[in-house]
Amino acid sequence: MAPRRPTSTPSPSSRLDQVDRLELWRRWKASDCNGCWSGCCTFPVEMSVHDLIRLGHATEDEASASLSRLGRRLLDEGVIQSYRAASQIFVLAQKPSRDCIYLGPDRLCTVYERRPEVCRMFPKIGPKPGSCPGHVRHAQTKGGPK
Ligand code: SF4
Ligand code: SF4
Repeated sequence: MAPRRPTSTPSPSSRLDQVDRLELWRRWKASDCNGCWSGCCTFPVEMSVHDLIRLGHATEDEASASLSRLGRRLLDEGVIQSYRAASQIFVLAQKPSRDCIYLGPDRLCTVYERRPEVCRMFPKIGPKPGSCPGHVRHAQTKGGPK
């Protein structure tokens, strides 16, 4: 997710109408990330407490004390949008645009070295393993997936 190299223009909101359509996603290759609009960073990011510790949002002591209490604090601070106690999953907050809160205006990840595990694994894991929405823009302009 969110390559570190410079990207092109920010995503117009019209692209978001398309990004959930998995039939528009295409097989991913690493070179696709160069200059991409980072559509992968417009989806909710599920995190463990270990991700939160790496990001600097929790301490080891907090993690061992009460995850529910930690979840309440992070909700109040706007870091997460939800906490699922049964699975101990924290969901990272998103901007009104739907972008991840850590996606910069240049559409690069601002916490790349500390990013959550699922971001490191995408698109190996994800809604359509092995594929991503990087080509949605092209699918739109060229009239659909090839
Ligand atoms: S949408 Fe795909 S090509 Fe674009 S940054 Fe994400 S993984 Fe890379
Ligand atoms: S943490 Fe970084 S890589 Fe992960 S979704 Fe947010 S901006 Fe993208």
